[in-house]
Amino acid sequence: MVNVCDIQVMKPLLAEHGFHFSKAKGQNFLIAPWVPQSIALESGVDETAGVLEIGPGIGPLTQQLCLRAKKVCAVEVDNRLKPILDITVGEFDNLEILWNDVLKLDVPALVKEKFGGLRPMACANLPYYITSPILTALLEADCFDSVTVMVQKEVAQRIAAAPGSADYSAFTVFCQYYAEPELLFDVPAHCFMPQPKVTSAVIQLRVRKERNWDVLDEDIFFRTVRASFAMRRKKLSNGLASGFPELGKAGAAEVIEAAGFDVNVRGETLSIPEFARIANEIVKRHG
Ligand code: SAM
Repeated sequence: MVNVCDIQVMKPLLAEHGFHFSKAKGQNFLIAPWVPQSIALESGVDETAGVLEIGPGIGPLTQQLCLRAKKVCAVEVDNRLKPILDITVGEFDNLEILWNDVLKLDVPALVKEKFGGLRPMACANLPYYITSPILTALLEADCFDSVTVMVQKEVAQRIAAAPGSADYSAFTVFCQYYAEPELLFDVPAHCFMPQPKVTSAVIQLRVRKERNWDVLDEDIFFRTVRASFAMRRKKLSNGLASGFPELGKAGAAEVIEAAGFDVNVRGETLSIPEFARIANEIVKRHG
């Protein structure tokens, strides 16, 4: 197997094919072999798994996934990488590469078509410029057992944040609504070529089989969350009145009290079940 994390191997390979890194496509490739090995190991991928990888690059994580999974589907937008991937991962007959923009794919349909009978998992070293839209698509697809990804460390911290902390955000609530996050390990910038300006971290999102809260209307729930964080330094009543003009200030205060909270409560301190109580009161009045 070609050691794609070895710069002595990789540099001539890239030069031979006239490849130049694209900053716009988030191309920071792994050059420390322990990283793709650890991501694949910690992801829990095994011979029962069908794995969706986003952005194989020149294939360091792809190799590790192919060694463990029953099937790997890798989606790569940059087809200049084709001749290089032919060399680095061409030997794996459990790999299919789709030359496409992951954001243009119908993920649930793809999973159904490619991974019938297998345990669907997603695993990737993500292109950081589209971390949020990719994670949104993977979680909303609601068809993976788990999603294990490398992202910027600060994004990982935001995803795993607790209510009331500085990192807690609407994106935290979105991710934790669908999945339970676990921070796995940090990856320093020197593990990549070219080096990114930030530290990275690997996080696992284990998709919830059951959601132990009662949400009457998901659209209203997520609107409530976004309205709360849009004015996070202010009281929840201000955020709700602005996000739901139909409530007005008095209506927003009534909703908060009917849900069992002090009228001065701040949205950034609320847990998912607590946001659900507020959203359900809005549905009861205006749904
Ligand atoms: N997996 C490789 C590694 O760990 O060395 C490369 C990771 S690199 C951070 C991100 C990869 O995502 C690049 O190969 C890039 O071309 C690819 N990519 C960027 N935008 C994409 C998109 N919209 N759809 C699919 N792949 C994309």
